Order: sequence, then C-alpha cells, then structure tokens
Amino acid sequence: MLIIGAGLAGLSLAWHLAPTHRVLVVDQGAQPGAEATAQNAGMVRRLVEDPVERAIATRSGEAFAAPGDDWEDHPPSRVVGAVLGLVEEDAQLTDAVAHLRQRGVEVHSLDRPEEVAPALRGSPIRQAWWLPQERVADPHALLSGFLRGLRRQGGALRLGERVEGLAQEGDRVVGVWVGGALLRAGAVVIAAGAWGQGLAAGIGLARPMAPIRRSLHTTAPHPLSRPEHPWLWLDDLGLYARPEAEGWLLSGCDERLDRPALGPGSIGGLTERGRAELGHKLERGLPALADVGLRGGWTGLRTFTPDRRPMLGEDPDRQGLWWASGLGGAGVTGCFAVGEAVAAWMRGEETPWLSRRAVSPGRPFPGRFLIHPSGESWSGQLVSAR
Ligand SMILES: Cc1cc2nc3c(=O)[nH]c(=O)nc-3n(C[C@H](O)[C@H](O)[C@H](O)COP(=O)(O)OP(=O)(O)OC[C@H]3O[C@@H](n4cnc5c(N)ncnc54)[C@H](O)[C@@H]3O)c2cc1C
Repeated sequence: MLIIGAGLAGLSLAWHLAPTHRVLVVDQGAQPGAEATAQNAGMVRRLVEDPVERAIATRSGEAFAAPGDDWEDHPPSRVVGAVLGLVEEDAQLTDAVAHLRQRGVEVHSLDRPEEVAPALRGSPIRQAWWLPQERVADPHALLSGFLRGLRRQGGALRLGERVEGLAQEGDRVVGVWVGGALLRAGAVVIAAGAWGQGLAAGIGLARPMAPIRRSLHTTAPHPLSRPEHPWLWLDDLGLYARPEAEGWLLSGCDERLDRPALGPGSIGGLTERGRAELGHKLERGLPALADVGLRGGWTGLRTFTPDRRPMLGEDPDRQGLWWASGLGGAGVTGCFAVGEAVAAWMRGEETPWLSRRAVSPGRPFPGRFLIHPSGESWSGQLVSAR
C-alpha cells in the first residue's frame, strides 16, 4: 500500500491501515505535514451546515476525545469551547444544531455571548451558538501520534521524494514513478492535497479539485486573549478569532483560487490590502478586537472539490487507485474519520456513519463552483474546478 502525501490525510490513513497492511508513505517535503497541515488555524468544528462534513466531523470528534496511546505524551487537542455567531442569516445553522443536540453534543443559544466570550463585546451578532466542548487541535502533535503508531506497526515514511506520476498497466494503477524509477504497489492512495488533481490528470483522469488560498493573521499581545477563551467564528460575515500565545489568530475567511507549482511549497505572504480588509471586518464584527495590532501571518491552501465534500475511497475508473483528498477547510477536524473510513473500505468493511457514494471520486460534479472572495456568505464568484 503506497500513500502519496504525509499530511493529516495521508498519515491518518497510514495509521489506520498499519495494523492490517504494509504501508509506505511518500512525501516530496523534507518534513511531514509541511503544507496545508502546517498552515491551518487548528479549530475542531462540528457545527457545520453540510451533513456529510458533519458526519465526518462528529465521528472524528469521538477520536479527539479518546485518541489512544500514541498521544499519551502530547494530547492532539484541548477543550476550549467555541461560539459560532451569525450577523445576518440567523437561521443558517439551526438544523445542524438540532442534529448535534440529538447526537448528545452540548450546544447552547446565548443571549449575552460576551459573558462567555469577552471578545464578543459590542458584536452585532443576531444568533450565538456556544459549544463548550469544542476543541483546538495541535496539528504537530496529531502528526507525531500518527507517525509513532505507523512506525510502531512497521510502516515506513520516505521524505524528500516527489511522485512524478502514477504508473498504470491497462486501466490498473500499479505504482508510482519516483526519481525515474517505478515503485510498485498493490494500491496507491492520492493524499496529496493541492497536487492531487494533477497526479490524476497525468493518467488522463479528470478529478476536479480547486486549491483556494486563505489568509491567517497574528497579532500583538492583547488583553482579551486568554488560553481558555473560546474560539469565535462569525459564519456569514466570514471572520474568525482564536487565542494564540498572548494575542489572536484571525482570518477574514478570504478565498482565492491558486494552483501551486510542482514540488513542495504552498505557503504565501499577506498583503497590505488584506490587512486593511481584515481591519474593516473587525470593526464591524468584533469591535472589541478592532484595536489589535496586526503583526504577521501567512496564507495557505485549502483544497476543495466543486461540492466542497471530500474525495474519498476507491476510484471507479482505475483499479488500484484510491483517494483521501479534498479535505478543504476541515482536514484537521476530520482527519481521524477520513483515515478510518478509507482504511475500512480498503479492508472491505462498511461505514454506517458515512455514505461512500456521497464522497466517491466518481460522483458527478458541476464544472464550476462558488467561492467567497471576501469571506461573506452573501457574495460569491464562480470558478472553474477543472
Ligand atoms: C489557512 C487555513 C486554515 C485552516 N484552518 C482549519 C481549521 O481551523 N480547522 C480544520 O479542520 N481545518 C483547517 N484547515 C484545513 C486543513 O489544514 C487541511 O484540510 C488539511 O491540512 C489537509 O491535509 P492534507 O493531508 O489533505 O493536505 P496537505 O497537508 O497539503 O498534505 C499533502 C501532502 O502531499 C504531499 N505531496 C503532494 N504532491 C506530492 C507528490 N507528487 N509527491 C510526493 N508528495 C506529494 C505534500 O508535500 C503534502 O505534504 C485550514 C487550512 C488552511 C490553509
């Protein structure tokens, strides 16, 4: 079994497969998890509109609560709670709230959200949902645990090796090309994040995915930042804030299509315009943070399919080819469940908690899909995912 990509998707799958398969993970980076996995905000978010994303998030949530021995020294997450707010479209998350409550997840509607989250003082939100058990993950600790388990069970990781292409005989994928040599494998899994679509295109397979760039900003120390302050997400306005060190990690949820070049490296820098736009949003949505001193930050790639659901499982058009891709903006949250589902299907087992069809690489996709360049849910732009 050969997995292309040592990000959260690839290493979670490797960890889940290692008890029953010989697993080799290959990554072009000098370190595992150096791309999207190192660029995220680390929020584990179960209150999401889409039922498929929610099925993955709630399943993963159970693993975050009891991850097992490979995380004995460094837990992969901690509970801080979260407040999800809506400034205009206040009914947006209502169904999702009902579903989570039915599953036993604690969700409260807050009349005075600033009492739970002082950074919401003066915020114009019309609806605030508080999830006291929501978590922040540590992606580095997550990866370390997956790697520890993989190695303990005899699996291997090769770094600094770029897969140049998939190797096929007839309509069967039989391995990959690395450094001009054929590396044979009984099955190959594309867990290559923003580069997955290109690998498929190399063997004439159209699997639409769009890498979308988003900014994250760091701030100077700020009096309202506390390690135990819940993370905040104003969903329809497109603004989130998470305590980080003594300041905040902030995003205006901007989206821009941006395909990376071949080879490692997808992190980008911020612009003055981006900082100014975030400043305006803070004034509108989180006035208590409008005086934060923006210090630095980066941009990173979230890779989506056109229906924004992940691409998981066996490829219906190539034997021996599997996918653990398209984790979008939810790959930290969903990593445990993504690895669990694909590993189960590889063993011929079923997953009653997740429909295979809903995430199948062969499902019909629209040719274009909506992104939100300003982060606001009420404005959008159609982009091609091909
Ligand atoms: C700004 C930002 C904020 C985010 N915030 C959150 C959040 O708060 N919560 C959340 O749940 N998720 C969040 N995410 C999403 C999350 O980070 C991703 O969904 C997740 O990291 C994707 O993991 P991956 O393994 O699919 O991709 P990656 O981490 O990109 O891994 C893919 C790997 O494949 C390797 N690779 C690619 N091509 C080849 C090749 N040809 N040969 C060898 N190796 C190859 C790459 O080197 C890379 O290591 C955020 C993402 C970003 C960018």
